Amino acid sequence: MENKRYDDLYNKLSGIFDEDSIFKDVPMHIHTSFKVGGNADIMVLPKNSDEILKAAELAKEYDAPYFVIGNGSNLLVGDYGIEGLVIKLSGRISNVEIDGDSLYAEAGARLASIALKAQVNSLTGFEFAHGIPGTLGGAVMMNAGAYGSEMKSVIEYVDALDEKGNIVRLCNEECEFGYRTSVFERNNYIILGAKIKLSAGDKDEIMAEMRRLMELRREKQPFDMPSAGSTFKRPANNFAGGLIEQAGLKGYRYKNAMVSDKHAGFVVNCGGATASEVMHVINTVRDTVNEKFGVMLEPEVKMIGRFE
Ligand SMILES: Cc1cc2nc3c(=O)[nH]c(=O)nc-3n(C[C@H](O)[C@H](O)[C@H](O)COP(=O)(O)OP(=O)(O)OC[C@H]3O[C@@H](n4cnc5c(N)ncnc54)[C@H](O)[C@@H]3O)c2cc1C
Repeated sequence: MENKRYDDLYNKLSGIFDEDSIFKDVPMHIHTSFKVGGNADIMVLPKNSDEILKAAELAKEYDAPYFVIGNGSNLLVGDYGIEGLVIKLSGRISNVEIDGDSLYAEAGARLASIALKAQVNSLTGFEFAHGIPGTLGGAVMMNAGAYGSEMKSVIEYVDALDEKGNIVRLCNEECEFGYRTSVFERNNYIILGAKIKLSAGDKDEIMAEMRRLMELRREKQPFDMPSAGSTFKRPANNFAGGLIEQAGLKGYRYKNAMVSDKHAGFVVNCGGATASEVMHVINTVRDTVNEKFGVMLEPEVKMIGRFE
């Protein structure tokens, strides 16, 4: 961290966050499923929404950019790291409360934990999300989905912090969910939690369905290699993985980054890949698929930080 302003911000934040909740010069490869990325200047792990608000307000006061992350499972962080403050929510703000046929989950709750809590309470409708390795906040923001369902189908409302520091409640329609997008992507809201509407089901059947979907993932996806899941969004009337395979790029490797030879929709880290190596593979895939089929693939993975 070379910027004096960020040093001052760190000192100020240290007055609010316990020493196990604030860090400087944090290697982002240990906070992302891709295992790629340089250092973030500062990272805080808030315990409640008040700490999130204070961290965001102080970042603004010190003119430092801030970035909220969940479990880092949809991120490619640049080799030169993230300037300013990273506010990481995964695991800390993670309470899940059952309320009849619904549940309320805080932003840092892992989808797998929410799904298991729903199962234990005989609530069906969240099985699709059990194998997605993200948090509630990241999943709402991305409108994460799998196996024919998505967050849009189960969200009743979302609580978020707006740019002015007010807590706002948005109903499902106001979230403007689309394919891997939401209103939260287009503004700077921080998702705090969400009410999820489920329905009564059978515990054993819910567990069996979660196991079935997990088995499908294990069969089809490169579970043994670091990635951020599907690298590209599904193009209209087509599949990214299919186009990449037809373009002859399944298994294409550049240094330590590669198009998975198990599922061409995943770019994987073969071990020690840099963000620039991953970007090289992503750009080669995009250019080649565009040349061959006239389809420009759009990354689903969020690229953050400094790449050069
Ligand atoms: C093996 C594997 C399989 C996957 N399978 C799927 C799948 O089937 N379906 C699918 O949709 N995705 C899948 N993904 C991608 C990823 O898990 C999802 O997009 C997930 O929802 C991201 O959640 P996260 O907490 O990790 O978010 P992060 O990766 O930490 O962040 C993603 C984005 O959300 C924002 N964000 C995170 N938390 C908040 C918050 N509280 N408030 C505001 N913004 C926030 C971040 O700023 C960032 O822009 C997979 C990934 C992997 C590695």
